[in-house]
Amino acid sequence: MAKPVLRIVPLGGLGEIGKNMMAVEFGDDIVLIDGGLMFPEDEMLGIDLVIPDVSYLLDKAHKIRGWLITHGHEDHVGGLPYLLPQLDFPPLYGTKLTQGLIKVKLDEHHLIERTQLNVIQAGDSLNLGVFRVEFFQVCHSIPDSVGVAVHTPVGTIVHTGDFKLDHTPVDGKLTDFAKLAQLSSQGVLALFSDSTRVEVPGYTASEKTVSDTFDTVFSNAKGRIIVATFASLISRVQQVIDAAVKYERKVGVTGRSMENNVAMARQLGYLKVPDGAILPIDQLAKLPLEEIVIVTTGAQGEPGSALSRMANGDHRQVTIVQGDTVILSSSPIPGNEEAVTRNIDNLYKRGAIVLYHRLLPVHVSGHASQEEQKLMINLVKPRYFVPIHGEYHHLVLHGKLAESLGWPAENVLVDEDGDILEFTPDSGRINGRVQCGYVFVDGLGVGDIGSVVLRDRKHLAQDGILVAVIAIDRQTGRPTGLPDIISRGFVYQRESEELIEQARQVALDSLDHQKDHTADYGFIKNKMRDSLSHFLYERTKRRPMILPLVVEI
Ligand SMILES: [Zn+2]
Ligand SMILES: [Zn+2]
Repeated sequence: MAKPVLRIVPLGGLGEIGKNMMAVEFGDDIVLIDGGLMFPEDEMLGIDLVIPDVSYLLDKAHKIRGWLITHGHEDHVGGLPYLLPQLDFPPLYGTKLTQGLIKVKLDEHHLIERTQLNVIQAGDSLNLGVFRVEFFQVCHSIPDSVGVAVHTPVGTIVHTGDFKLDHTPVDGKLTDFAKLAQLSSQGVLALFSDSTRVEVPGYTASEKTVSDTFDTVFSNAKGRIIVATFASLISRVQQVIDAAVKYERKVGVTGRSMENNVAMARQLGYLKVPDGAILPIDQLAKLPLEEIVIVTTGAQGEPGSALSRMANGDHRQVTIVQGDTVILSSSPIPGNEEAVTRNIDNLYKRGAIVLYHRLLPVHVSGHASQEEQKLMINLVKPRYFVPIHGEYHHLVLHGKLAESLGWPAENVLVDEDGDILEFTPDSGRINGRVQCGYVFVDGLGVGDIGSVVLRDRKHLAQDGILVAVIAIDRQTGRPTGLPDIISRGFVYQRESEELIEQARQVALDSLDHQKDHTADYGFIKNKMRDSLSHFLYERTKRRPMILPLVVEI
C-alpha cells in the first residue's frame, strides 16, 4: 500500500511580500491558510491589485474543508473577495476582529450573504476533514492574530502567520509560548515561519516605543495633530486615542476604510474609547486646534486617500494650516516611497510639521527579527523548517538562520510559490510544481489582463504611440495620398514636423509596389507598421507603438 502523503502547496507569499496563501492537502481533504493580495510592482502598469493564482484548486473546491485566516491584514485577507467565488465559498475560520475586517470587505463586494464566517478564538481546536486544527495567539501589529497548528495523519505542522515576540503589546496579549512548547513536546513535523524581517539582527522594538513617542509629541504639539496610518492597524489607533485622552484632545476619524474599521473595532470591543473621546469631524472643527487629533488613512501616499487629499489641499473637511503636526505612523512599503515623499513635501509647503519613521520612532515593525525567529525555531523544534512570507532572499536567509542553529541543510526546505512540498512519515521534500502565476485585478476585472496587455502598457509608457491613417481608394486599391500621422508621448509633434513629414512619405513609399487592388488591408497595415518602425528607430532609437489604420473611401 502506498504511504500516506501530505502535500503542502504555497500559492502566494513565498518569493514575494504579499498575497499570502497556502493549501494543506491530504487525500480528499484540503484546508487553506490565508488569502491575501499584493499591491502591484512598478512595472505592472495600471494594475490595481495582484491576487494568488488558484488554478490548482479549481477542480478541488469540493475538497476544501475550511479556510483558516491568521489575521486581518490585506496581504492575508485582501484576496478573499476575488478568491471566494472561484472556490465556491469555503467556510472561513478566523478570530472576531479578523472576521470583522473581512466582513467590512465582503460587504463592499456584496458577497457577505454567500460567505460562512466562523468566529474562533486563540486556543480553539476544531476538526476539518482528516485534520485537527488548533489556533494559538501571536503578537503582531494588529490585535487578535493567531498562528495555526494542523495535525495531519503524517504529523503536525505549525504555521506562525505573521508574528513578533512583543513583551509589552498594546492589548497585553502575548505570543502563546506555552502552546508552542506543548506542540513541540508532542513533536512537530514542519514549522512554517515568518521571514519578512530576517535581515534585521536582534529583537523588534515593542509597540510600547510608539506610545512613548506619541506621548512626547502630544505633550509638545501646539496645534492640531494628524496621525496617518494603515486602516487595519487597530492597535495604533488605540495608542492615538490613549494619548489624546491623556492630553485632553478629542479625536476625529477620516478616510472611508479607517472610519469603517474604527466603527467595527469599537463595536466588537477591540478599541477602548471613553465616552465623547471620538467626535464627528464637523463637531471637532468647532474646537480650538490644540484640542484636536485626526486619525486618517494615507500614510503610504495612496492617491485619493484622505492624507493625500489634505496634502493637495483637496480634502472636504480638513485644511492643513500653519502649526499642524502630521505623524506618518508607518514605514513606506517598497514602491510607495515616492508618493510618500511627495505628500511630505506638500504638507510642509502648507505649513505642517511632518514626523515620519526616519525622524522619530513613530512606527515599529510587526515582524520578528533574527533573535525572535531563532527563538521560534528552537521552541518549536520542528523536523523540517520551511521559511514563508518573504522575497526569495528572505527565505534563503531564514533557512540559513535555521542551519546556524543546527538544523541540517536537507531538513530546511526553501520553497517558492507553486512548489509542492511532500511529506511522508519518513521524508520531506519539494516534489513538482503547480501552475502559480500572478492574477491581476484591474478595475473591476479579475484575471482578464494578461502579460500581453501589460507589455503593451509598458511599451506605451516608454515610447509612446504613433497612429498612421491611410486612405485607400476603393476602386483602384491604391492610396489616395500621404497618410496622416498622429503621435502621443513619442516626440513633441510641433518640433518634429520634419520627422513626421518624412515618416508620412516612408509609409506611403512602402506601399509603392502595391498596385494590385486585391491586396488585403492586413497586408497594407503590416507593411506600413514595419517600414515606420524601422525608419523611426533609425532616426530616434525609440520604438513607439505603431497603429496603422486603413480607411476605405
Ligand atoms: Zn500582517
Ligand atoms: Zn503579512
